[in-house]
Amino acid sequence: MPLEIQQIPALRDNYVYLLREPNSGAVGAVDPSVAAPVLAALSSRGWNLTHVINTHHHPDHTGGNLDLKAATKAIIVGPLADKGRIPGIDVAVGDGDTFKFGDEAATVFDVPGHTRGHIAYWFKDSQALFSGDTLFLMGCGRLFEGTPQQMWTSLSKLKNLPPATRVYCGHEYTQANARFALTVEPKNADLVARAKRVDAARAAGKSTVPGTMADELATNPFLRADVPDLQRAMGAPGDAVATFAAIRKAKDNF
Ligand code: ZN
Ligand code: FE
Repeated sequence: MPLEIQQIPALRDNYVYLLREPNSGAVGAVDPSVAAPVLAALSSRGWNLTHVINTHHHPDHTGGNLDLKAATKAIIVGPLADKGRIPGIDVAVGDGDTFKFGDEAATVFDVPGHTRGHIAYWFKDSQALFSGDTLFLMGCGRLFEGTPQQMWTSLSKLKNLPPATRVYCGHEYTQANARFALTVEPKNADLVARAKRVDAARAAGKSTVPGTMADELATNPFLRADVPDLQRAMGAPGDAVATFAAIRKAKDNF
């Protein structure tokens, strides 16, 4: 049975996700920036938190760790490569590890770039990817602690997941990302159409997350740095890393 997934808006534009594995009753909170709205969602559903699941150390993803652990005794799972910066970490996981979550399992990918220890969790059976601040819908995270080469390699791992994979990212940045993407690929018909759908969703006060990997492959310029037309447009034919770097730089200055 697939995971039940509840999205909890937090802070300005963060998303925390509550996951429940129905067979075992395991409940996880992905990247709890703050504890209060997570505890409120748990009590309104009658769910008991068993895991906190972190993608990276930034406070807007881990700020609720210790309060949640104190209130629920949840086990905190996070990146092995960043153990020292994850508050309260109990279980450290890294590239290729399988993290058992009740009767489901997530494959862990090391995806450095935004931070050096960033990881992503792929729940194959539920076709769900928790990408933190590595992959946003139509965007990617800023390179605070990594190089374009690292981030391109990281995104390339995620790009290979099945197109039906749903992408649950750490922030509602989709509308601004679409605006930038249109400056990179103004003639991409899939992008133009998706940007319209996103504008309509936001105008109606709705979340744009999750998206699908299929839509990301068609419209996310950061995943498309290997597309020859885009490489030529960015002045780096045949060079995906240089194309990615040029797009990232343009976005930083957008
Ligand atoms: Zn971050
Ligand atoms: Fe963040």
